[in-house]
Amino acid sequence: MIPVVDLAIIGAGPGGLSAAIYAVRAGLSVAMYEKALPGGQITNTDLVENYLGFPEVVEGSFLVEQMVEHARRFGVEAQPGEVTSIEPCDEGFVLHGISGEPTARTVCIVTGSTPRKLGVPGEERFRGAGVSYCAVCDGFFFRGKRVCVVGGGDAACEESLYLAKISEKVTLIHRRNELRAVDALKRPCMEHDRIEIIWDTVVEEILGERGVTALKLRNRRTDEVSEIPTDGLFIYVGSLPNSWFVRGLLELDDQGFIIVDKLMATSVRGIAAAGDVRSESYRQIAAAVGDGCVAALTASRWILGGI
Ligand code: NAP
Repeated sequence: MIPVVDLAIIGAGPGGLSAAIYAVRAGLSVAMYEKALPGGQITNTDLVENYLGFPEVVEGSFLVEQMVEHARRFGVEAQPGEVTSIEPCDEGFVLHGISGEPTARTVCIVTGSTPRKLGVPGEERFRGAGVSYCAVCDGFFFRGKRVCVVGGGDAACEESLYLAKISEKVTLIHRRNELRAVDALKRPCMEHDRIEIIWDTVVEEILGERGVTALKLRNRRTDEVSEIPTDGLFIYVGSLPNSWFVRGLLELDDQGFIIVDKLMATSVRGIAAAGDVRSESYRQIAAAVGDGCVAALTASRWILGGI
């Protein structure tokens, strides 16, 4: 029988790793579970320039290594496994889906988010054959080629800048006439000589045979339909929370993000949520790390108070 731990952390991204360190320092016994590799979305990030303490631009993979090592120094390493549901029990909560169905007195959910689909014809068919949601993972295949990016937020701009280093030309397609990205990403994108921006335009269809060859576009102001030749499409139109396994147990917002209070407590006492999966998160590495700290301290308070 697996001993009951004080805190089970579900997800080993920056929020989860931060929670692990704070929980161990507060004297809690901790188990951490991760269905993929530790690090979360930073593993798919080329460069990070806004994480405090790293004045030089650092590679996302380097930052992940440092964070994983930091948690390891406190004795916490992610165990592989995907939690499929959480069930309240006398001792706390049973984690279904994990081998041995372990029980924890408190739980911290730090499962992050997944790229949102564009939802147009051709997207599924050409996924992995020209359609991608990760420039750092797939950009290599487009060396010297023409690519399009869809979206107008931080992710679309950041990844356009990354792709502009590799490919011959990047066309950023945005549905409005103004990017919502922060100035530090928006400006270099607009000024880059290999990035062209097509405004007020949506992608209606992804065209090709064995791989992507073109996109069918529609201008939202004029209704004009056109085709643009391209070798690939990178989609950055926001993200969806990885919260399906707590639907029906926790209160979620209308998009499925977990609603928390300012102490990261969810609607069920004993369960905290932190980072990108929680409602109203700014979805920054620093924000996830801060959330993880708060969630762990809240768990420690619950344990001290007998939950
Ligand atoms: P986001 O900020 O939600 O932006 C999504 C973009 O996609 C918006 O420009 C939106 O257009 C567009 N869009 C949504 N649905 C669309 C559709 N069906 N067709 C065409 N366009 C569509 O998402 P994000 O860029 O992934 O960023 C998410 C969060 O992560 C943000 O809080 C961001 O600050 C953070 N982030 C930070 C960094 C960084 O700091 N380096 C990097 C990446 C992400 P509208 O503008 O018209 O709504």
